[in-house]
Amino acid sequence: MDSGKQKRARIMARRRQRRERAALVAAGCDSSSGGLPVDEHLLSWAGYHSYGVPDFVMRGRYVDRPFRCRDCGSQEVWTAAQQKWWYETAHGSLYTTAVRCRACRQARRDNCMNTRAAAWLGPRSTVGANSFANAARSGE
Ligand SMILES: [Zn+2]
Repeated sequence: MDSGKQKRARIMARRRQRRERAALVAAGCDSSSGGLPVDEHLLSWAGYHSYGVPDFVMRGRYVDRPFRCRDCGSQEVWTAAQQKWWYETAHGSLYTTAVRCRACRQARRDNCMNTRAAAWLGPRSTVGANSFANAARSGE
């Protein structure tokens, strides 16, 4: 009889703890939780010790990282799951982070397929713009 009561009390206490923890996480106050754990042994290939330990390894967790897309300037989030995949599965360098949103990465991939056209058109249009600017300056 008593043990049943104690068991229920334990369950209630656990539930309360979980609720409090969830509230902390929701409020963004608990930096030790959220995100994903870093599997250090999966990063051993990188030999990061000679360069200094990246912050996410120090912390032991991947957390969502907000960043601004280099190309279109949109505010994006590099999620913990994406980081874990990038460093541990894709073996991306520990010193690289996401710099472009999904749409811009896709656009760049598409551009790569048109490299010939870009190489031909790119410098040509740049030269055109420069000589136009030069002409405008010399005309002053
Ligand atoms: Zn973008």
